[in-house]
Amino acid sequence: MTVLVTGGAGYIGSHMVWKLLEEDEDVVVIDRLSTGFDWAIPAEVELVVGDIADQDLVEQTMKRRKVDAVIHFAGSAVVPDSLADPLGYYLNNTVKSRAMMESAIRAGVPHFIFSSTAAVYGGNHEKPVVEETPTFPESPYGRSKLMTEAMLADAAAAHPFTYTALRYFNVAGADPKGRTGQSTRGATHLIKVACETATGKRPFMEVFGTDYPTPDGTCLRDFIHVWDLVEAHLLALRRLRAGGKSLVANCGYGTGYSVLQVIEAVRSTVGRDFDVRYSPRRSGDLIAVLANADRARQEFGWTPKLDNLVTIVSDALRWEEALKRRNS
Ligand code: UDP
Repeated sequence: MTVLVTGGAGYIGSHMVWKLLEEDEDVVVIDRLSTGFDWAIPAEVELVVGDIADQDLVEQTMKRRKVDAVIHFAGSAVVPDSLADPLGYYLNNTVKSRAMMESAIRAGVPHFIFSSTAAVYGGNHEKPVVEETPTFPESPYGRSKLMTEAMLADAAAAHPFTYTALRYFNVAGADPKGRTGQSTRGATHLIKVACETATGKRPFMEVFGTDYPTPDGTCLRDFIHVWDLVEAHLLALRRLRAGGKSLVANCGYGTGYSVLQVIEAVRSTVGRDFDVRYSPRRSGDLIAVLANADRARQEFGWTPKLDNLVTIVSDALRWEEALKRRNS
C-alpha cells in the first residue's frame, strides 16, 4: 500500500512526506514543481513531476505503486490572489481536484484526504466555529475549496470511496527537526512574511488594517503548527483505512492571536526590532476565525503537541535562517 501525496514538494506536503516516512509508509509524490522544490522531498521518495490533471499519468502512477490513499495538497492558497485570479483558483482547486477524484475512483483508490480551509466559514465569528457552522466563503479561494468538498461528498455517496476534508486554520511553523519548512517565493502569509522581515530578507512588512473591531484593531487568526497538522492527516488516514466514514474536520487550536501579537512574538524570539508599517485593510480578509476541533480530537484522537505561538514562530524562524544560508 502506498500513499500518493499531491503537492508533496510544497510547504505542507513536504512535511506530510517526512511524517509518512517516519511511520514507515510507502510514499509517491506528484508535483509539477510550480511552487515546490524537489529538494524538499527525501531522496528515497519517488517524485513524479507532472500535473495532477494529467489523468493518464496519475492513474498509471496509482496502479504502478498500488496506491490506496491520496493526500491531496496541490492547489493555490492565497486569499488576495484568488480575488485577482478567480478562474485560476477554480481551475487549480476545483477543476483539478475533480480530476484527481475521478482518477482515484477509476484506479480503485478507496481513500482521499483533502486540504480544505477555514475560509469556507467566512464572516466574523465570536465563538470558535464547528463543522456545522454555516459556510459563507467570502473569497474565490474559500469557494473553490468548498465546491471540492461538495464533489467529495457526492462522489463518496456514489462510489466505494471515503474521504476526509480537513479545514485548516492558519498553518505556520516548520519541521521541528529542520528537514523542511515554508520555502515559497513571494510568500504572503503573515508568519512567513514576519520571519522574512526579521531575518533581513525584506526591508519592512505591512500590517493590513488596524481598525477592525478586535482588542488591538488587527485581525485574529488561529495558528496551527504544520507538524501537528500533518499528524492530523496521518490519523485521518488510519481512520479511513480502519473503515471510518467520510467526514469534514476542523484543524486549529481554538486560540486567537492578533496580527500585532504575532509580530511581537517574532520580535521577541529573534531578539531585535524590524520595520513594520501600517497599511489599509486587505480585501477579502476575515476579522476573526477560530477552530473548534473537538471532532478531530474525538474521531481520530488528534492531540496537538506544538500548540503555542512561541514554538510555531521559533520553528519558522529557524527554517528562515536555514533558507537564507541555503540561498547565499
Ligand atoms: N497580514 C498582514 N501582513 C502581511 C500578511 C498578512 O497584516 O504581510 C494579515 C492579513 O491581513 C490577515 C492575517 O495577517 O489579517 C492573516 O493573513 P494570511 O495571509 O497569513 O492568512 P489568511 O488568513 O488570509 O489565510
